[in-house]
Amino acid sequence: MLQGKSAIVTGSTSGIGLAIARAYAKEGANVMINGFGDADAIERERAGIEAEFKVKALYSGADMSRGSAIEAMVVEAEHAFGAIDILVNNAGIQFVSPVEDFPVEKWDQIIAINMSAAFHAIRATLPGMKARKWGRIINTASAHALVASPFKSAYVTAKHGIAGLTKTVALEAATFGVTANAICPGYVWTPLVEKQIPETMQARNLTREQVINDVLLHAQPTKQFVTVEEVAGLAVFLCSDAARSITGAIIPIDGGWTAE
Ligand code: NAD
Repeated sequence: MLQGKSAIVTGSTSGIGLAIARAYAKEGANVMINGFGDADAIERERAGIEAEFKVKALYSGADMSRGSAIEAMVVEAEHAFGAIDILVNNAGIQFVSPVEDFPVEKWDQIIAINMSAAFHAIRATLPGMKARKWGRIINTASAHALVASPFKSAYVTAKHGIAGLTKTVALEAATFGVTANAICPGYVWTPLVEKQIPETMQARNLTREQVINDVLLHAQPTKQFVTVEEVAGLAVFLCSDAARSITGAIIPIDGGWTAE
């Protein structure tokens, strides 16, 4: 379905982003993966995508908290692939703390990576998409783009901001064959969720089991974690011709969480 297309997926050395990058490659797209982690493991993943799906796969270690690094990543991908047709702004981090104790540097980092990075990547890729009259911008937001939870002030702020950016870009790009949508997962079992368990145990004075069952899955009526494959499936669908009229949408994939 995506033969001849090229994608950048930020934050794709792990979790949701990796599943999306692999799903695009499976559909025939060239992919640039991005993110942090063990260099050998990342190279194995990159080479594995090329070998398994017979596409070009590149890796950029660009830090999504730095606008200049994001611009350089886009230029590198455009040179290598000829064009960027699909941009998935997915890199994200979490930090859990009462607002009055929230470390200022963590706030700045979360706003930069979870929100401003998407602005920088969009402003670098949109001109090419508009010129070619085809493009797909997908922002990984969160159920926290629609509702809040205590102790996640920076994350909830950034994710609500991403929803606003998505709608604005959708309007600006609407007549150019370019769609912009936000995917809003509920809890997906990834390293991001695992890492926040100890912080939540401390912030709420709970055991690990209580955090999983009474905090995380409490919010989700299905009582099941969303899977990375389900999120990737939605990201693929949004690139299909059938999805060309879906734009400016803030799409929950959250087991019913935000229906309550
Ligand atoms: P993850 O921790 O598995 O992956 C995060 C990715 O972002 C990794 O590849 C990491 O290296 C990368 N990253 C972090 N900081 C970076 C930086 N400064 N520059 C470049 N890359 C950086 O987490 P995940 O759960 O797969 O999260 C992916 C996205 O999905 C995030 O935006 C997150 O907010 C969102 N999300 C996750 C869940 C969930 O339950 N896991 C729910 C809703 C939304």
